[in-house]
Amino acid sequence: MERTLAILKPDCLRKNLIGAVIKQIEESGFKIISMKLVRLTKAEAEGFYEVHRGRPFFEDLTVFMSSGACVPIVLEKENAVADFRKLIGATDPAEADEGTVRKLYADSKGENIVHGSDSVENGKIEIAYFFPGSELARMTA
Ligand code: ADP
Ligand code: MG
Repeated sequence: MERTLAILKPDCLRKNLIGAVIKQIEESGFKIISMKLVRLTKAEAEGFYEVHRGRPFFEDLTVFMSSGACVPIVLEKENAVADFRKLIGATDPAEADEGTVRKLYADSKGENIVHGSDSVENGKIEIAYFFPGSELARMTA
């Protein structure tokens, strides 16, 4: 069974949308394997988005991601990575399909409610960033 990492971003929490987004995730057939509420430091946000360092939006992105608490969630489903990307919609909510999480709730390309891994390989790296293997193993034992 495939896994992906979701993060409910600080704008999701500010808008009191944790429940609405998780409801949509569960109704789409994803199982929650683990989740937590964390406040990233600027350096931790930079570490998570290391691949984007040097991009023009990197500073705004990492300031935003460390501006409040967020909720990383390990999700499991067949085809989890692609299906979750489909559920959340395009990075820019203006380009996202109707009914997607970002279309429904996001204000802008920068503040777009939710993160989803872009490949199985990156999903593994991202999950490990928030959830130690031993912690995850206990959730499924
Ligand atoms: P996605 O989250 O859809 O995988 P990317 O990996 O390309 O998108 O970018 C990571 C995050 O960086 C986006 O979710 C968004 O918050 C921010 N971002 C990406 N591109 C831009 C941009 N052109 N302007 C502002 N923020 C951006
Ligand atoms: Mg991405």
